[in-house]
Amino acid sequence: MSQALPGSERKQALRPLRLLLIDDNPHDRELVTRAISHHFAPLTVLPARDAEEFERAITEEEFDAAIIDYELRWTTGIEVLRRIKSLRPQCPVLMFAASGSTEVAVEAMKEGLDDYVTKTPGHYARLPYALDACLERRTAERAWAQLAAVVESSDDAIIGMAPDGRVTSWNHAAARLFGYPEDAILGQSIEQIIPPELREAEGSVLARIALGEHVNHYETVRVAQDRRAIPVSVRLSPILDRAGAIIGISKVARDITERKRVEEALRLADQRKDAFLATLAHELRNPLTPIRYATRLLEPGVPPQMASDAKKMIDRQLAQMAHLLDDLLDVSRVTRGVLEIDHEQLDLREIIDGAVASVRPLAETARQELTVSLPADALSVSGDSVRLAQILGNLLHNATKYTPTGGHIAVIGAATGEEVIVRIKDDGIGIAPEALQTVFDLFVQVEAPGTRSAGGLGIGLSLSRDLVRLHGGLIEAHSAGLGFGSEFVLRLPRAAETPALTESVAAPQKVTALGASGVRVLIVDDNVDAATSLSYVLALAGYQTAVAHDGRRALDLAETLRPSVVLLDIGLPSMSGHEVARHLRAVPWGKDLRLIAVTGWGHERDRMKSLEAGFDAHLTKPIDPELLLQHIARAARSVA
Ligand code: ADP
Repeated sequence: MSQALPGSERKQALRPLRLLLIDDNPHDRELVTRAISHHFAPLTVLPARDAEEFERAITEEEFDAAIIDYELRWTTGIEVLRRIKSLRPQCPVLMFAASGSTEVAVEAMKEGLDDYVTKTPGHYARLPYALDACLERRTAERAWAQLAAVVESSDDAIIGMAPDGRVTSWNHAAARLFGYPEDAILGQSIEQIIPPELREAEGSVLARIALGEHVNHYETVRVAQDRRAIPVSVRLSPILDRAGAIIGISKVARDITERKRVEEALRLADQRKDAFLATLAHELRNPLTPIRYATRLLEPGVPPQMASDAKKMIDRQLAQMAHLLDDLLDVSRVTRGVLEIDHEQLDLREIIDGAVASVRPLAETARQELTVSLPADALSVSGDSVRLAQILGNLLHNATKYTPTGGHIAVIGAATGEEVIVRIKDDGIGIAPEALQTVFDLFVQVEAPGTRSAGGLGIGLSLSRDLVRLHGGLIEAHSAGLGFGSEFVLRLPRAAETPALTESVAAPQKVTALGASGVRVLIVDDNVDAATSLSYVLALAGYQTAVAHDGRRALDLAETLRPSVVLLDIGLPSMSGHEVARHLRAVPWGKDLRLIAVTGWGHERDRMKSLEAGFDAHLTKPIDPELLLQHIARAARSVA
C-alpha cells in the first residue's frame, strides 16, 4: 500500500461504500467525507452524532466500515469500538487518534481495531487508502475462509508442500485417506506416503513442478500410515507468489480404489466372456462330430448293431446340445428378468427321485456309488417342478462330473420348521477356497478352458442359483479344498400345505409298451423330415399315424380320420397352428381330442397362447420322443 498510486488513477478504489461515521463534529465529518469521496462511488456516509443515532445505526443499518473519532461527547472511542465489534465482528473499523497521543488507538487495536489515522489535516489524505486496505483485507480473509472450507470439505486429499517436499497443509480428506493426522505430518517430508520404489520418479515430477509445469492427473500408488497401498490419481501444480516465483506445490490426490476394482471386475468379466465363447464353440462343435459320423452308419447295409449304436450316439449328442441351448436361453431370460416360474405345491422328494434317476446311468458308468436319503414325510415346497428338477439335475450332474471313478455321491433331503434342505455331497475333486466365492458366477469354470475334460459352459451353477432365488431360496457351496470333495446345499422355503396329488407320469419303458394300436395320431408339420421321422417313431410304438404339411390339409385329414391325438406345429404356411387348433376344437368330435403343440417357440407367452387356442399341452422342440410318447399314451388312456 505504501507505493499506492494517486487517488484518481486507482481504478480499483472506486468501490461502493456505506460508511458509518461516529463523530459529533460537523466540520470534521465534512472533512472526512471530502477526503474519501474521490475514492468510493457510490458513497453513503451514515453520521452518528450522538448515542441514540449510533445505537440506531448499529442495530438497523447496513454499512461496510466504520470510522470512530477519538473524542466523543457521550462516550469513549473504545466503548464504541467494543459495541461495533460485539454486533459486527467482521466490520472493518478505523479510529482517529489525537496527534501526539496514539496510545489509545494502539490499545484499541488489541481489541480488534483495524487501523488508525492521526487527526491532522495532512493525515486526512491517508484516510481513503487506510480504509481501502482494511476492506481489501476483509475481502481476502473472506475468500480465504471460503477456500479453506472448500478444501476441508473436499473428498480429495489436498496437500500443500514447500518446494523441497515438506508438507505445509493437509486437509481432512488427506488425513482420512492416508491415516496421518494433520499434526503428525505437517513439516514432515511427503516421501512418507510415497513407496520407496517410486521416490525417484516422484523426485523428477517435483523437479518439473519447480520449473513451473503443471502435472495433470497420473495414476500411482501411495502408502497409508498402516502400510496399505492406495491407488490414487494425482495432480500437481506450482503455487506462485505475485511475482511468479514458486513458493510451494499443491497436490490433489484422489482415491481410485473403487474405480480400479470396477475396472478389474470388467476386465475379468470380459476375459470370462471370451473364454466362454471359446468354450461354447468347442462344446457345440463337439457333439456335431459323432452325429456326422453316426448318420453315415444309418445307411442301408450297415450291420444292425452298428446302426443301433449310431442311433444311441445321435440321441445322446442331441440331448447334450439341446441341454446347452436350453441353459443358454434360460440364462438370457434370467438376465433380462423375463424368466417366470410356476408355484405349484410339490413334494420335493419326487423331484429328487427323478433327478437321481436321470444321473444314475452316468454314475453307474463311472462306477460311483449314488445314495439317497429322504425323510418319510413329504418335503413340501411351492415351486416349478421343471425348474427344480433342472437345479437338482445340474447339481447331481456336476457331482458325477467332478468326482472320479469309484467315488461316492450322497443326496440327503430334510425339512426343518421353515426350510426344506437338500445336500448333495461328493468326495470328488473339491473346490479351492478362493474358487468357492466365484463358482456361482456366470461363465466361471474353475479350470482354464482347454485343460478341462469335463465339458460344460460354466453356466449351470449360475443358472441354478438364479432359479433357486426365484423360488425364494438359496444355494451354497462348501468344500474343504481341492481333493476334499464338495457339498452343495439347496435351501427352499417350506410350504405349509400338504402337496396336492399330481398326476404321476408313467416310466418311459411302460409308455412305449402302452402304444395301443387303434389310436390314431395326426402329425402336422411343414418340415417334411420332422413330420416323417416323428410318424416313424409313433408307428414303431404301435400308433396309426397320418401326416399333413399345412393347416388346410390337416383339417381335411382330421375330418376323415377323426384322430384321438393331433401333434401340431405352430408356424405353418397359410394357416397357423393356433387357427387349426381353434377349428378342431369347434367341431363336435374335437372336444375330447388331445391337442399337443409341438413347436420351436418355448417362451411362457407362447405357452399361454397355445392354451388359449385350445391346446392341452405345449412341447418345445427338440422333443424327447419318450416324453412325447408319454403324452400320447396319456391321451390314449383317456380315449380308451
Ligand atoms: P460347468 O460344470 O459347466 O463348468 P457350472 O456352473 O455347473 O459349470 O460349475 C462351475 C464350476 O464349478 C465348474 O467348472 C467346476 O469347476 C465347479 N464345480 C461345480 N460343481 C462341482 C463339484 N461338485 N465338485 C467340484 N467342482 C465343482
